[in-house]
Amino acid sequence: MLLNSDTQLNQNSYYEASAVRPDLQPVLQDNLSADVLVVGAGFAGLSSAIELARRGYQVVVLEADRICSGASGRNGGQAIVGYASGQEPFEQQLGRDQARLAWDMSVQAVQLIEERVKEFAIDCDWVRGYLHVADSPRKARALEADARAMERDYGFATDLATGADVQRHIHSPRYHASAYESTSGHLHPLKYGLGLARAAQKLGVRIFEKSAVLKLDRGATLKAHTAQGSVSARFGVLAGNCTLPEYGAKVAPDIADRIMPVGTYIIGTAPLDPALCQRLLPRNVAVCDNNFILDYFRFSADHRMLFGGRVSYTTRTPANLQAVMAQRMGQVFPELQGVPIDFLWGGFVDISMNRAPDFGRLGDNLYYLQGFSGHGVALTGLAGQLVAQAVAGQAERFDVFARVKHLPFPGGPLLRMPSLVLGTLYHRLRDAF
Ligand SMILES: Cc1cc2nc3c(=O)[nH]c(=O)nc-3n(C[C@H](O)[C@H](O)[C@H](O)COP(=O)(O)OP(=O)(O)OC[C@H]3O[C@@H](n4cnc5c(N)ncnc54)[C@H](O)[C@@H]3O)c2cc1C
Repeated sequence: MLLNSDTQLNQNSYYEASAVRPDLQPVLQDNLSADVLVVGAGFAGLSSAIELARRGYQVVVLEADRICSGASGRNGGQAIVGYASGQEPFEQQLGRDQARLAWDMSVQAVQLIEERVKEFAIDCDWVRGYLHVADSPRKARALEADARAMERDYGFATDLATGADVQRHIHSPRYHASAYESTSGHLHPLKYGLGLARAAQKLGVRIFEKSAVLKLDRGATLKAHTAQGSVSARFGVLAGNCTLPEYGAKVAPDIADRIMPVGTYIIGTAPLDPALCQRLLPRNVAVCDNNFILDYFRFSADHRMLFGGRVSYTTRTPANLQAVMAQRMGQVFPELQGVPIDFLWGGFVDISMNRAPDFGRLGDNLYYLQGFSGHGVALTGLAGQLVAQAVAGQAERFDVFARVKHLPFPGGPLLRMPSLVLGTLYHRLRDAF
């Protein structure tokens, strides 16, 4: 079962309604050979395919459903520097120099989006500007301390505001502090992903949709089996996120328990008065708070508020979702209380235990990219670049990530979900103050 096939999640996505999908790509029905097999046509798989094809490799991408039908076509569209984990896992495990390298790569990851938008002429509403906000005095102190540490240790400066000064950036009664920066930005993720797929195909990449990998034979030559065909390849890249429960169990059981699917949801309002949008977010930034369970929001190019948040650890869509999310949006922007909601959708993020990305190798020819932990819009592009470099024999940058240790979620397949829920309840209580 595809996690994202939950009909409630699929019936009403703003992105699907506002992008034009090409006809279904072919379903794999042959036994093919390639240099590299990529599993998954989300941002990570497509970025890998582009970078590998640029280096002269013949690439086949197998997608279980449609291009970017997983997290890549559903997300908040916020392309943000840094990592969901912060810098701690890199600093603690790899030392300051490698942590610096990891930080710099995250900044390059955002830059890469802008380069691709230009190079491949992808019309995806790319806008720069990001605001990090805190909704209590305690969290305001934490946000300030983080911002100052990033400037001191990594030379990354933000425009800090506290108290009434926050209103310069966001017209909301909710926030006690904010940090603005103009490196990060936002985009229409499905238009961007479809643009990446077009670019990959122009570079010679063959993409098959509705072609789930059901079994993967490992060895000097890899062989992926779908319902009606197979692909043999010297190298493989696993970029399947957590969309298929059986993906982990059948294709890569050795890394499956290091990520957990967590549901997150977005509502999209009816188009609003552009003057109201300008008043609420004068710089048209993407916004995210510093809670453990985040609110994240921004305006679309056609002036809808896209407001994301909530989480589900059961893989079931929570009850009363639209009403709960609309209420939350109204607390942030009282002027949006009662505005019509045209869209509601959601998807799954693949979180790792320490929230740092989990990249590595299984044997010497099978690479995996997972654990973006809700922070993958920009990092997936970088991940594709790093994996292509590694396949081509230059693994230094890939190995910065491959050296970060990741623990399995405790409790095995049956108990890891409840233990995560308990951990989250603790953080939910902390978020309240
Ligand atoms: C609602 C939501 C909001 C988010 N907001 C943000 C945000 O604002 N900023 C941010 O940085 N990140 C955000 N994220 C996270 C971000 O979208 C992901 O980190 C990123 O898209 C992951 O890309 P991916 O290519 O690894 O995975 P996906 O896009 O999920 O792609 C994986 C693909 O692999 C396919 N697949 C799986 N198994 C198989 C198989 N066996 N055979 C063939 N194909 C298979 C799936 O069908 C899927 O299409 C959000 C995610 C969600 C769901």
